[in-house]
Amino acid sequence: MELMCLLIHTSGKYTIFLVKLISKCYFCSPNNSFVTFGMRIDILTVVPELLESPLSHSIVGRAIKKGLVEIHVHNLRKYGKGPRQQVDDYSYGGDAGMVLMLEPVYNMISELKAERDYDEVIYMSPDGEVLSQNISNGLSLKENLIILCGHYKGIDHRIREHLVTMEISVGDYVLSGGELPAAILADSIIRLIPGALTDETSALSDCFQDGLLSAPIYTRPAEFNGWKVPDVLLSGNPKLIREWQDEQALERTKLLRPNLLKE
Ligand code: SAH
Repeated sequence: MELMCLLIHTSGKYTIFLVKLISKCYFCSPNNSFVTFGMRIDILTVVPELLESPLSHSIVGRAIKKGLVEIHVHNLRKYGKGPRQQVDDYSYGGDAGMVLMLEPVYNMISELKAERDYDEVIYMSPDGEVLSQNISNGLSLKENLIILCGHYKGIDHRIREHLVTMEISVGDYVLSGGELPAAILADSIIRLIPGALTDETSALSDCFQDGLLSAPIYTRPAEFNGWKVPDVLLSGNPKLIREWQDEQALERTKLLRPNLLKE
């Protein structure tokens, strides 16, 4: 119900996202919590250990325990070549750095696709589309995703040409592997699944959801060292509080991220 009220108060991209979210295949259980038909994310990597901690604690860990999402991490060495399960080789053309081979990725993706359909095969790549809230919103509505983590110098380009459907970057800098970017992407998607956050409406007031930064937030005590929480937040007047938050969100966006207002 709270979600529906929020919907009425919003506009633009934010509303479209909410409508999609509400119409996704989930329903209200007797205790009014949202129940979804779980999402599945398969992550392909040569260093599965790098994904263990980020995906097993806090909001993501709880979402898995609640059955809202399944995450399966696959070691590409399963399809590595020879006794040493080789997954990389020298690059044609002689450039420095090893290249992740085509066959282990092809075999792993084929094995997964034989079991179910996938909405996207995403390759984490510094030259992909830079991750945004909008991308995460869209992906949170999908059912089955594959995320491929590159390593070494990168991956054989034929994987990108023939197997990958989407390429996402976490920013204009280069990391050693796609595992941390994959964990960032998975986290940003999973926290949007209804039921992942204790209060389902919380994600909707975060930065970027309505194209603005969010207003400052405070908790108890109301005063410390003479540093006070703004009076309006203690007023108990929801209308005034909302107006103050909207005003602050706009001011902070103008000051810190004016580019968002132009987009
Ligand atoms: N030679 C490549 C970089 C390879 S880094 C280039 O110049 O573009 C090794 C792997 O780390 C990549 O295959 C990719 O999966 C991952 N990676 C590195 N930086 C990334 C970023 N900013 N966003 C997403 N993935 C990234």
